[in-house]
This record gives sequence, structure tokens and C-alpha cells, in this order.
Amino acid sequence: MSSHPPSQPVLALDVGGTKLAAGVVAPDGMLRSLCQVETGVGEGPAAVVKRLMELGEQALAESGVQTGPSGEHVVAVGVGCGGPLDPRTGVILGPPGLPGWDEVPLGRMVAERFGLPTYVENDATAAALGEYRWSGWDVRSLVYLTVSTGFGGGVVADGKLFRGAAAQGGELGHVVVDWQGRACGCGARGCAEAYVSGTSIARRATEAVADRPDSSLAKLTAITAKDVADHARAGDDVARATWDETTAMLGRMVAVLINVCEPELVVLGGGVTRAGSELLDPVREAALRQAMPPAAKACDVVLSRHGDAVGVLGAAAIAYERLGAL
Ligand code: ADP
Ligand code: ZN
Repeated sequence: MSSHPPSQPVLALDVGGTKLAAGVVAPDGMLRSLCQVETGVGEGPAAVVKRLMELGEQALAESGVQTGPSGEHVVAVGVGCGGPLDPRTGVILGPPGLPGWDEVPLGRMVAERFGLPTYVENDATAAALGEYRWSGWDVRSLVYLTVSTGFGGGVVADGKLFRGAAAQGGELGHVVVDWQGRACGCGARGCAEAYVSGTSIARRATEAVADRPDSSLAKLTAITAKDVADHARAGDDVARATWDETTAMLGRMVAVLINVCEPELVVLGGGVTRAGSELLDPVREAALRQAMPPAAKACDVVLSRHGDAVGVLGAAAIAYERLGAL
């Protein structure tokens, strides 16, 4: 156990390819504040880290919780960031979604800025623990998948977060769903991330409209995953084909994970899950149909209840876990 009383809140920072989020979180998972800002990933690590620090300060101020020693005070910082990274040293090791972030000592920089012990973890691995602790799911094992700018996930088995010998928590985004498929940012072919990430949804739709100027998507200057979901819902067949390919690939991927891990629950979160049942219904159907029947019967596929806060809650759960308070 740590010397810090687990009754004190933590600051949680979430570094995504599209947005940064920061919040102060109490030990019961209650959010005291939540702030977000665009990442501006093209500006490079120095500018993004500066913005992250300011967002952390803002989250502290808005929470009303003091950083000083008297009364209620923040005792640690948890940071979730796209991997690969080293959770032991807090160094970011060139994630595909964060160009230029090679050997960025994010943990040390955050610790120095806030004067607090700081714990860095893969964002999707962290979110799996946050879901497990604070979503009210009555399960001992779950797989969490984030469908956001990138695509990744984490595993809780028998009540314990799986970290693996390389401490990456499993590279779930790089499970191969088509061995002759699209090139992935990791150098392999046909990874789930090459189809399921928000970035890939946008890219595949952009490729498809090049031959289909009649598509309603063709009028947009830059197509996002949100546009694809919206235009598919509105009846555009190019958007529909891209969306259906995405949910089919994700469904297949979830079936693989159900077979491998036999979780009680697969939880989907991240910005693309704002599409709601447009995403969940076909993925759930495909996953439970294609997984081995006993494993499928023991499992359900659901959306996270935390919405945009899922990354912040994950980072906070990691801080508490590493403080010895969870
Ligand atoms: P980050 O990756 O920074 O954590 P998010 O989790 O918010 O950010 O994911 C951003 C992705 O979510 C983008 O690709 C965006 O187009 C997509 N997105 C946002 N809203 C929707 C929506 N309603 N439907 C489908 N995709 C969406
Ligand atoms: Zn890959």
C-alpha cells in the first residue's frame, strides 16, 4: 500500500490523436472536472505537451480540489497515451498516431510540472481497467476496445489487468482480420486498425468517392469517420459500403477476441462509437454469430457508458492501481 490515503483524488490526462482530455477523478470514479481540447497532432510533441499541461491545470482549477497539502488534494497523475510506450519509465516510443513522438519522456515532464508521482499507461489498456472498476458491469473479465483516431484495446482477466511481458497490454489493434488486406501503419497487412480506426474509415471513404462523384460525400473537402457514419445513415451507398465493411471487420475481430479470451463482456468505446447502434448492432450480431458457440453464449458486446470520459477514467484507474489503492 502507498503512504497516500486512497481517499484523495487524482489528476488524469488522456492523449488522443484527435483530442486531449483532462479531469480530476475521486477514488470512487466520480469526475470532479473534465476538460477537452483538440490535440493539433501536426504541431508536434512540444506544442501538444504544452497544451496538455495547460489542460491539466484547467482541470485542477475547475475541480476546486487543491494541489497543496491541506484538506483534499490531488495525490498523483495518471496519463493514458497511444502506444507503444514504456509504462515503467513513462517514455513514449513513437506511436503511429502521434508522428514525431519518439522517445518523449512524458511521465517525467508531467511529474515535474505537477510535482506529483505520475503513472503512464497505454490509453486502451488504461481504459480497460477504468471500465472494469467504475462502469458497474458485474463481471470478472472483459475486453475493452477503443474505436477512435486509432484502434486498440485492453484485457482484464479474472479481475486483473493483463500487461504482458513487454508491458504493452497486448496489441489488440494489430490482430489480423485479412492476411492479404490493407497495409497497416505498423508495417503488417490486414490488421484490424487498417479498417476499424476513425483514420482508416475516413481514408477508405476518400478512396471510394474518387470513383463515385455522385456520392454525397464527394461534396465535402475532407471526409471524417463521423461524416461516413452520418452519410451512411442518410442513405448514401458509398458511405454505407465503407461503414458496413468497417462493422464487418470489427465484428470478425471481436469474434477472434471472444475465442481467445472468453470474456464475459466486450466493451466498445472511443469517438467512433458515438455512432451508437449504427455501430453496435451489426458488430454485436457478427461477433456473437462467428465466435465459437460456448464462448459466444458466455459473452455480450456493449457500448461503454462513459462516453468521452472513458480515457480520463482509465488514466485515473491506472494512477490508483499503481498507488496500490485499487
Ligand atoms: P481520440 O482518438 O483523440 O481519443 P476520439 O475518441 O474522439 O479521439 O475519436 C475521434 C474519431 O471519432 C474521429 O475519427 C472522428 O471522426 C470520430 N467520430 C466522432 N464522432 C463520431 C460519430 N458521431 N460517428 C462516427 N465517428 C465519429
Ligand atoms: Zn498493424
